[in-house]
Amino acid sequence: MHLSKIRLHWVQVPLHEPFRISSGAVSSKDAILVELRSGDHVGWGEASPMAGAFYSSETPGGTWEFLRNRLIPSFIAKPELDPQRCSERLAEFPGEPFAKAGLEGAVWDLDAQRRGQPLWALLGGAERPIPSGAAIGLMPAVSDLLARVERFLYEGYRRIKIKIEPGADIELVRAVRERFGDIPLMVDANAAYRREHFSIFEELDRFRLMMIEQPLAREALEDHAELQRRLRTPICLDESAESLEAIKAIVRLGSGRILNIKVQRMGGLWPARQAHDLAQAAGIPCWLGTMPELGIASAQGLHLATLPNFTFPTDVEASARWFVDDIIVPQIEVRREGVIHLPRGPGMGYAVEGGAVARYRIRREEFAI
Ligand code: MG
Repeated sequence: MHLSKIRLHWVQVPLHEPFRISSGAVSSKDAILVELRSGDHVGWGEASPMAGAFYSSETPGGTWEFLRNRLIPSFIAKPELDPQRCSERLAEFPGEPFAKAGLEGAVWDLDAQRRGQPLWALLGGAERPIPSGAAIGLMPAVSDLLARVERFLYEGYRRIKIKIEPGADIELVRAVRERFGDIPLMVDANAAYRREHFSIFEELDRFRLMMIEQPLAREALEDHAELQRRLRTPICLDESAESLEAIKAIVRLGSGRILNIKVQRMGGLWPARQAHDLAQAAGIPCWLGTMPELGIASAQGLHLATLPNFTFPTDVEASARWFVDDIIVPQIEVRREGVIHLPRGPGMGYAVEGGAVARYRIRREEFAI
């Protein structure tokens, strides 16, 4: 199999509402799409850092430059179209997990297209629907939060996650519990708390939450372990679960009992699969998180989420939840039972919609092979 063309497309899709967490807000979703062509087959990947770099140090501009100047030239010089070997070679470059995930995702898709197989089969997953949970950002008022919870419960989502920060935590959880009773509920602190806030979590421990996601700083693994020992509620590590090494340390220290695995942060589907396997061996259940990403990266993540140790609902929501439009057809939909069914077909099962890519594109580059 020979490569015939590589293109990068930088797209910006407007959000319905600003995406807001404890450290910032953005109003459009940037992604850099990687298009690999080989004869009649096309593979797509998505490198998906948020503008503003508030989840990570990666930015759309930096990711574009790294793909354009380093990864793509090296890939063209010595193409590796076996996804695992490609992933291992990408791992030799330090950092830049989003850029690696974008290129690696395109190689997986191309391989699946060429074999005529669904991506989940190549990843070792199974054909099954994936339960989806809704995440609600910090809202201006408790009444806004309650209205959102009501809407997402009505739409069928399997669990509700609410963002918290110091000063907006216990009363939010209490209000949701008082209004909606014993719904599947969790909180995400995005690392906004410190040791002196431990009593807040001891208070939250009374509300039968499914989990408390990333209460403390990314590197505070020992503090997380101490907090976990004080709580019945499982702690889920998100920001801390940034690499296989970090996950090994989490397991060793007992920093939490659940992991949120993000393909973009891990640097691709293969390292994310390894993270899943590591957690499974340690008896730690996982779920698939999102940055959030557009349709290509979301769809590929959903294929990975069919692996057996992804036991909690994913953060991947319907395309229409965040984005005014998406770049795939069909768009990702959550059924009334709160699950996502992957369309049949080779690769992702979803097709990339050229018109949408062109509509939202702000930069494009084609590479000679
Ligand atoms: Mg999180």
